[in-house]
Amino acid sequence: MDYKNYIEIVENYPKEGIQFKDITPLMNDGDAYKSAINEIVNYAKEKEVDIVVGPEARGFIIGCPVSYALGIGFAPVRKEGKLPREVIKVDYGLEYGKDVLTIHKDSIKPGQRVLITDDLLATGGTIEATIKLVEELGGIVVGCAFIIELTYLNGMDKLKDYDVLTLMSY
Ligand code: AMP
Repeated sequence: MDYKNYIEIVENYPKEGIQFKDITPLMNDGDAYKSAINEIVNYAKEKEVDIVVGPEARGFIIGCPVSYALGIGFAPVRKEGKLPREVIKVDYGLEYGKDVLTIHKDSIKPGQRVLITDDLLATGGTIEATIKLVEELGGIVVGCAFIIELTYLNGMDKLKDYDVLTLMSY
């Protein structure tokens, strides 16, 4: 399936100079969404994943159906102040901004094999921060899966030591 037919490119959103890749048309189409998720499910099966982790909010759109299909858990990574119990946190940089990400301290058990999911790999800051959280809890990152990679932002440089699946690139 050519997933690019389901991505809308929005110029100058959310800031001047950013070319936003909107995945919502892909989610709106049942066949395209299912096909994309199934590719990640098959990848997760190969990697013998124990739990899926995704940063809010678009990491949930990818990661939750993958964990449901595999019958394994999902651990959300959220912005500071959003998770109600004890968390660990990390600072990170974005293509457009800076923030803090957190994860519940008890969400991953040491030695668990973790798949990290997000819609898009841009600078890699979000995924690098998510990896730090997972590894601090003793999780083993066995793979990272994205619908889109923006190759011109070189996010892959931050993932040199990890296995990565991307379904399309710009
Ligand atoms: P980064 O940390 O730079 O790799 O950015 C990744 C996160 O920001 C992902 O969760 C994306 O959803 C979002 N993002 C960054 N740049 C874009 C873009 N050009 N189009 C759509 N989403 C983006």
